[in-house]
Amino acid sequence: MNADRGRCRLLVRGVVQGVGFRPFVYSTAAELALTGSVSNDSAGVIIDIEGAPAALREFTERLRHRPPPLAVIESIERSELPVRGGTGFHIAGTTRGSGRTLASPDVAICADCARELTDPADRRYRHPFINCTNCGPRFTIIASLPYDRDRTSMADFAMCRRCAREYHDPADRRFHAQPIACPDCGPALDYSIADTDDPLAAARKMLREGGILAVKGIGGYHLACDATDEDAVALLRARKRRGDKPFAVMVADRATAGTIARIDGDAAAILSSPQRPILLLPRGTRPLAAAVAPGNRDLGVMLAYTPLHLLLFGLPGDPPGPDVLVMTSANLGGEPICYTDDDAAQRLPELADAVLGHNRRILVPCDDSVVRVVDGEELPIRRSRGYAPLPLALPTPAAPTVAVGADVKNTCAVADGRYAWLSQHIGDMDDLATLHAFEAAERHLEELTGVRPQRLAADAHPGYRSSAWAHRSAGERPVHSVQHHHAHIAAVMGEHGLPDTATVTGIAFDGTGFGTDRAIWGGEVLAAGYKGFRRLAHLAYVPQPGGDASVHRPYRMALAHLHAAGIDWSEAIASVAACPSDERRVLIHQLETGLGCVPTSSMGRLFDAVASLAGVRHRVDYEAQAAIELEGLARDVTPEHAYRFAIIDPDADGPARISPAPVLAAVVADALAGVDAGLIGARFHAAVAELIVDAARRFGEPGVPVALSGGVFQNALLLSLARHRLAEKGFHVITHHRVPPNDGGLAFGQLLAAGAQ
Ligand SMILES: [Zn+2]
Ligand SMILES: [Zn+2]
Repeated sequence: MNADRGRCRLLVRGVVQGVGFRPFVYSTAAELALTGSVSNDSAGVIIDIEGAPAALREFTERLRHRPPPLAVIESIERSELPVRGGTGFHIAGTTRGSGRTLASPDVAICADCARELTDPADRRYRHPFINCTNCGPRFTIIASLPYDRDRTSMADFAMCRRCAREYHDPADRRFHAQPIACPDCGPALDYSIADTDDPLAAARKMLREGGILAVKGIGGYHLACDATDEDAVALLRARKRRGDKPFAVMVADRATAGTIARIDGDAAAILSSPQRPILLLPRGTRPLAAAVAPGNRDLGVMLAYTPLHLLLFGLPGDPPGPDVLVMTSANLGGEPICYTDDDAAQRLPELADAVLGHNRRILVPCDDSVVRVVDGEELPIRRSRGYAPLPLALPTPAAPTVAVGADVKNTCAVADGRYAWLSQHIGDMDDLATLHAFEAAERHLEELTGVRPQRLAADAHPGYRSSAWAHRSAGERPVHSVQHHHAHIAAVMGEHGLPDTATVTGIAFDGTGFGTDRAIWGGEVLAAGYKGFRRLAHLAYVPQPGGDASVHRPYRMALAHLHAAGIDWSEAIASVAACPSDERRVLIHQLETGLGCVPTSSMGRLFDAVASLAGVRHRVDYEAQAAIELEGLARDVTPEHAYRFAIIDPDADGPARISPAPVLAAVVADALAGVDAGLIGARFHAAVAELIVDAARRFGEPGVPVALSGGVFQNALLLSLARHRLAEKGFHVITHHRVPPNDGGLAFGQLLAAGAQ
């Protein structure tokens, strides 16, 4: 055969299906005058390619270094084949082999599709389901892999002749776009009220008049209303039975976002990324209804991410509607997001005045993601739509494992080989509906990744529903119990790719986690590796009276802390005044006898106590509300000094204790002297940051990184202060950028800890 030709077979693994990979291969091959074929297989994309050796080399280079924007190349395996001398290049059908490919997350509408949507000359002008190879639904419409239309909910729609032609034309930007659709053949909108030939105009009118609209989105239904209409937002809160927890808002474009929030370059990039998360941003100059995010200095903002959203805001020439919409998941507080049409028919009538729906089924529920920007870097708060199920690299290959996470902000995760996959946000496992949502998400994750877990990992908490599920479902397989704060630290270590022999000084600060001594931990300094940990120091135990009651009423934690610190309950102290005298009598009895109390070292509860002592908040309506408000007040205040914790050496071998007593005494003195709550908050934040530095110096070893994790590090002010102070002292600091520091990232840490055992 011809010596100046070569032929080889390339097996490309990674996120290579549903991201325009085959069209990319086709056009690259055409450009380099190579012949052969490309096909999907459940192991990845298989390329059979032939041509001049230099062109073949160039081809592999481009695959490796210039793949389509949404692709993630895990590996390229090459094997030589005898030259055949074929002509042309074609895209072959999908073969069903063994192995694994990775599904893509849902992708926000791209600029090209947005342009066609508004172009009266385009045949998809105003088509609510416009998408292409680079954008559209993926994760939420895929039943199983390989990713082909017949395995998605688009199987319900037969392509029309023109769509089919685009789908099969390698030169077309919809070449092999599985959800391809047009007004002739695609899904159609429907509107629940009366017959209308323009559901969008009717929906917009409803919003303009102060109504509450349910909108079927990508991963579920949203409830929408005009975010500038005080009555509409109040009505939405009443119907959802939601107290103070902030609502996110959606706007059509970056310019509108810039009126309601302050957006710098880093924030702008995340806001308009293909993931389009809800971004927590400082408020801008234009006010919204107070009920959108009461008491909160930040605003959760997202850009419209589907063509339907863009149309809902209206195109040029449409009668105006609200330009800022509250967009909140359509459910009652705590319930899983509503996503099936049957469920919508049951649950939405009491919540919404009308439903803007359509007939493309959502197969997998997926909430919006939430992100914060701290010092120009991304801090995930909720990793869900747009991110799930992108794989996370593992530092060491893992046996097939499933980790079930925690009972709040639950996510689950599977691992196999060099990758882990974290599920979408599932929610708080406090009812049967969430447990069912968990089971469905776990099954789907196994289906999409092909992982068949040989072992399980769960939190050591004996009362967690997630852990109980793991033990119930394990059968003969081992279940590894992983201590809560160890899992947090393992998660941040794994995210940074630390090797299996690494150790860190782990600062794990959160609200609640089950400790090895059965106390509630949450203010922990650990010497940790993946394999295990040693508790170096912790916040001194105080009795948490009446469990959850003290989480909902921070004044109770304030009183418990005062009692432990030997500070009298003077009526002049805001927390004491906030506690009814009957309750105070019961409380003192509990604290003195230990009746109904659990010892806790929780940093989250200490934030609550300080917020109450500073008079910021005595009762909370949602998790971390007191700490969030304290952070908001403290943010722009410069404390000329910090309060000081005392570190008490251990008697014997045990951990050191960190006493907050001097901090509490100073907080009370400041509050009684009329010092502003923002300044008290700033001094307290500085104190916690200094504590972290002290702990790292005292307990850490030279050269050992300091790892920060746990829900308390969602606090941007604290995270930023601690990171800067540690860096100033020469410490290498690792913090979260890819998985949340809160319990939403716990499953990833559990996988890593279990893998090391
Ligand atoms: Zn597109
Ligand atoms: Zn069509």
